[in-house]
Amino acid sequence: MSSFRDSFVLRSRRKSKTKMDRDTHFAMEKKKFHDNHESKKQTDDKPKRRALVSFSELPEYMKDNEFIQKYYRANWPLKEALFSVFRWHNETLNVWTHLIGFILFLGLTMANLIQVPQIADLISLITRSFPISAYANVSHNSEDFILQGTTTNLIDLKQVTPSEMDIAPPLTPVTRWPFFVFLAGSMFCLLSSTICHLFSCHSHKLNLQLLRIDYTGITVMIITSFFPPIYYIFQCDSHWHFIYLGGITAMGIFTVFTLLSPTLSTGKFRAFRALLFSSMGFFGIVPAIHGSFVNWDNPKRNVTLAYESAMGLFYVSGTVFYVTRVPERWKPGWFDLAGHSHQIFHVLVVLGALAHYGATLVFLEWRDRVGCSNIIV
Ligand SMILES: [Zn+2]
Repeated sequence: MSSFRDSFVLRSRRKSKTKMDRDTHFAMEKKKFHDNHESKKQTDDKPKRRALVSFSELPEYMKDNEFIQKYYRANWPLKEALFSVFRWHNETLNVWTHLIGFILFLGLTMANLIQVPQIADLISLITRSFPISAYANVSHNSEDFILQGTTTNLIDLKQVTPSEMDIAPPLTPVTRWPFFVFLAGSMFCLLSSTICHLFSCHSHKLNLQLLRIDYTGITVMIITSFFPPIYYIFQCDSHWHFIYLGGITAMGIFTVFTLLSPTLSTGKFRAFRALLFSSMGFFGIVPAIHGSFVNWDNPKRNVTLAYESAMGLFYVSGTVFYVTRVPERWKPGWFDLAGHSHQIFHVLVVLGALAHYGATLVFLEWRDRVGCSNIIV
């Protein structure tokens, strides 16, 4: 009897132990599932920031400047490359220096576009029911605009000296298209450079394509910079337009086709690329000397020469930084995030373009006032 009772107790103990084990196991599984779910939720809520890598970890196609040692993005997806515009890495300031330059030139283009009679007409037509500016209330068509300009000139003439009275003001302002060609070329260069610096970390294929667009942008900016001075200086002797603008365009086409080769996009050919771009810039010395002789007595000559010399100085010093990779070669790793040569080069390019913009305004104001009749060529 006793043995029967013992075996019954033993059986029920075993049974309850097995049930306990099952319950514990179930509880543990439940906790594991819950923990997994929670950690997954946390990962989803807070995506891990993609790590920046050092020069030695870069794929071969990205090894361009060994003096910049850290904070590289390598093979990043396009979306993350796009949002990295708001994150610190060694291209952040390269992107922003030209993005700000682009926004600046976009603003200048808009400010000048609304002064073009046809555009002013369009804006005034759209805003006629809701006048937004003093101008919209005064003038509603290009005829009024031109007459206004003429009236201002006539009033000015009452206050000028007799020698200045000899110069009759033209009836219509000089055409603006060469000025807008330069503004468009500058915007194209600054925007393509911004895009290149932002996305070239994505893949080797995209890197090569973006570098080509970047070099094309630089070439387009150089060619289009020639349009305002050549057009307005030689406006009354237009065969020079074909010689100088044709010459620089041919040089630009040669440059772009030469740089299409992937080998020439590498760091080894940095100085060769700088030489190609600089020769295009130095080509400008020929029409500058020619234009100075043609307009020897023009009081505005020295002002435009000062602006254009400042532009030349900015571009040449920018090229020197680009080729020598100073200051990072002096202290490798010190200028990874801020102050390295490419950022300085970008700032100098924007300053050079602004100096050229200043010169172009002087050319425009002079041609508007003088026209063609009083120029000796
Ligand atoms: Zn650049």
